[in-house]
Amino acid sequence: MIIKHNVQLKPYNSFRTKALAKLFCEPATLDELIEVIRTHPHEEKLLLGGGFNLFFTKDFDGLVIKPAMEMVETVFEDEQQVEIEVGAGMEWDALVEHCVGRGYAGLENLSLIPSTVGACPVQNIGAYGAEVSEVITRVKAVNLKSGEVEVFSNEECRFGYRESLFKRHPHYAIASVTFRLSKSFTYREKYTDLNRELEGIPNPTLTQVREAVIRTRTRKLPDYHVLPNAGSFFKNPLLTREEKEELQKILPDAPIYNTGGGRFKTSAAYLIDKAGFKGQRRGQVGTYERHSLVVVNHGTEEGREIVSFAREIQQEVKKRFGVTLEPEVQIF
Ligand SMILES: Cc1cc2nc3c(=O)[nH]c(=O)nc-3n(C[C@H](O)[C@H](O)[C@H](O)COP(=O)(O)OP(=O)(O)OC[C@H]3O[C@@H](n4cnc5c(N)ncnc54)[C@H](O)[C@@H]3O)c2cc1C
Repeated sequence: MIIKHNVQLKPYNSFRTKALAKLFCEPATLDELIEVIRTHPHEEKLLLGGGFNLFFTKDFDGLVIKPAMEMVETVFEDEQQVEIEVGAGMEWDALVEHCVGRGYAGLENLSLIPSTVGACPVQNIGAYGAEVSEVITRVKAVNLKSGEVEVFSNEECRFGYRESLFKRHPHYAIASVTFRLSKSFTYREKYTDLNRELEGIPNPTLTQVREAVIRTRTRKLPDYHVLPNAGSFFKNPLLTREEKEELQKILPDAPIYNTGGGRFKTSAAYLIDKAGFKGQRRGQVGTYERHSLVVVNHGTEEGREIVSFAREIQQEVKKRFGVTLEPEVQIF
């Protein structure tokens, strides 16, 4: 495997910010991944997928590892279910298409999320009422400290809303993810936008659901090739009952979803709109006019400009509504 020096990371993050990686490699097998970790014990390491959920504010003085394993292997199958193990480097939507094409249900609501398979457990990708944690059975990873392979069960991944063990403790290189999918499918109404898109189709098929998701996403989200961005910049805030009541005093119409356990989710996009940032721009950075949660880059290469705009949003939302917005995007 070739290890490159001083690699420009601008093409490797969807915000298109510039930074140099001291070392950069693309292991194509589990053995290559183990080898590069073991032979570089003292380098700081960063795992990179498609770079759709991160951007750079400075050069990376270490080893960037971009897994390139793309295998799809059936590890179990009966009449109802199938279990497939998929390499970390596979493009996520190619996997969704593969599964929908074979009639395997479970990933369709997550169509078109820009991701690699290896990154999907990191922030437990989710959309349209579904989260990938619902179908993951195992994650195989190499420990960046010991160089040993470890296998995590679903429970051990400690999934939460846009959270997992791998996000909280980023010292694993995920090599493959195993999914358990169903061979039968009945559409369950989970999300208003999607239900609306499927109106008039009494029992939508997997393909119809996938197509509806793709249509909805394409309408709502900017194309990162044209307008660089990293999807939702902030997480939807989870509030305690007291925080929720305080917010409702200021914004009685704020959307609130009871997520159980005394926690309530509100909409970060709604708060950003109400704080006056809808379609706003500072220099080369702004919010997307059709979806304020998406911060877009109109032409800067400097990650710091994005950070500064994001801070301004956080401060204004905190000042007006007492709510802390946490970034979903990772900043390096
Ligand atoms: C237009 C747009 C729309 C989006 N919509 C959604 C959405 O609907 N729902 C959603 O949940 N997200 C969404 N996102 C965010 C993004 O799609 C996900 O976070 C995705 O999982 C990022 O995948 P990636 O391969 O690009 O990971 P990267 O951005 O490269 O990395 C993300 C994190 O995962 C780590 N990582 C990557 N690969 C590995 C690995 N093999 N082992 C260990 N750690 C690893 C990185 O170090 C980093 O911490 C969107 C992004 C964009 C640009």
